[in-house]
Amino acid sequence: MAITKVWLDESENECTMCGACEAVCDAVFEVPEKMVIKAGVDFTQYEAEIEEAAEGCPVATIAIEKDGSGKRNNF
Ligand code: SF4
Repeated sequence: MAITKVWLDESENECTMCGACEAVCDAVFEVPEKMVIKAGVDFTQYEAEIEEAAEGCPVATIAIEKDGSGKRNNF
């Protein structure tokens, strides 16, 4: 299952700007204020780190889509 999209999902909680995701994978995540995904990143190069960051996000706001499913595939 390849990660095809990563985004900030604040439908239930807001990003607390804690920086944990950037600490895990700064190639993908930036937290200038709220988390943003860096442009032009090939997610397939960082799948393990992206999943680790999503699992480690204290408010579960990192959403992952796999294989172009069109829906959130984590949590
Ligand atoms: S780990 Fe979650 S709450 Fe913390 S900055 Fe990243 S997205 Fe925001």
